[in-house]
Amino acid sequence: MERMRPFGTTIFAEMSELATRTGSVNLGQGFPDTDGPETMLRAAATAVTSGHNQYPPARGIPELRQAIADHQRHHWGLEYDPDSEILVTAGATEAIAASILALCETGDEVVCFEPYYDSYAASIALAGAVRRPVTLRPEHGRYVFDPDQLRAAFTKRTRLVLLNSPHNPTGKVFTRAELELIADLCVEYGAIAVTDEVYEHLVYSDAASPHLPLATLPGMKERTLRVSSAGKTFSCTGWKVGWVSGPPELVSAVLRVKQFLTFVNAAPLQPAVATALRSPDSYYVDLRNDLQQKRDLLCAGLTEAGFDVLVPEGTYFITADISPLGGTDGMEFCRSLPDRCGVVAIPAQVFYDTREAGQRLIRFTFCKQRPVLLEAVRRLRALT
Ligand SMILES: *Cc1c(COP(=O)(O)O)cnc(C)c1O
Repeated sequence: MERMRPFGTTIFAEMSELATRTGSVNLGQGFPDTDGPETMLRAAATAVTSGHNQYPPARGIPELRQAIADHQRHHWGLEYDPDSEILVTAGATEAIAASILALCETGDEVVCFEPYYDSYAASIALAGAVRRPVTLRPEHGRYVFDPDQLRAAFTKRTRLVLLNSPHNPTGKVFTRAELELIADLCVEYGAIAVTDEVYEHLVYSDAASPHLPLATLPGMKERTLRVSSAGKTFSCTGWKVGWVSGPPELVSAVLRVKQFLTFVNAAPLQPAVATALRSPDSYYVDLRNDLQQKRDLLCAGLTEAGFDVLVPEGTYFITADISPLGGTDGMEFCRSLPDRCGVVAIPAQVFYDTREAGQRLIRFTFCKQRPVLLEAVRRLRALT
């Protein structure tokens, strides 16, 4: 199909293959190298051996939908009815794809912030919709957007705004003032927001703002599909258990598409994720603190190696500017990095339509065990 032709092999496949071939420390793809909570793992094993292996209900098992509702009320003060306002999906990826496919007519426009998660552009293309990127650029150490560019991205054809906060790959956490501007434009143009909040629990203590779900802003809950997933919060990216919450009519529209993409998913993992979502607050605090230490370790190592480091406020990614090391193109830089020092990173330019904006930025993940990060830092010293 013509509109899928621009989407070749993902950069993650290329860089992970390069890491394997060169024996490099792979700080490219963002998946943890440790397992999630023990109680969750045991619950999954029990479910597999006690008959939870056939098609679950279309919207997900009631126990999980209840746990998702309770989790959102507890952490964000958001009330959703588990029977009509929550749908379990095959990861956040399917929730986002099904939302776009369900809501966009051919030619409808989707406002999104670049750099963006790589599945967004493909899902928008599959729907025959058009992406309207708004560029995030580093300014005084923090990624910001130009409010005028955001305003100009809205038109009569705007159907959706796709917002990822905390944001991958920049680590930006959108502030209340930024969210208010987005919310005002959604209301003014009658647009629906799809929010990707898979990093909702990964915001660090020095962030300019805590995480604020867009749906908590006045007038937004009734026009927002809020997406999250177990993958990042419970270190189980391979499980692909996600969910979408929103007004009944919007969630029903997403279900109409989801039922023909995967129908249902992950029967024995659903009760396990329900267990995980009931983790005590200390679980989330520990997860965050552990990752903040890892962030600081890698930021220090990258700075020492000569990069201009943008300290992330959230997520488990760091972006760094290669200019001080004489780099002018992140793609070239990342392809040569394994030979130069045995470390793999991802060129951020692949996440931009405006390539120039991401030309010199590369992304490292720090969701790895401490010894792995220490070894990466040791190797990166070879650059200086
Ligand atoms: C990892 C990630 C996803 C995918 O989540 P799954 O639950 O694995 O589908 C979606 N959005 C962002 C920003 C991510 O980083």
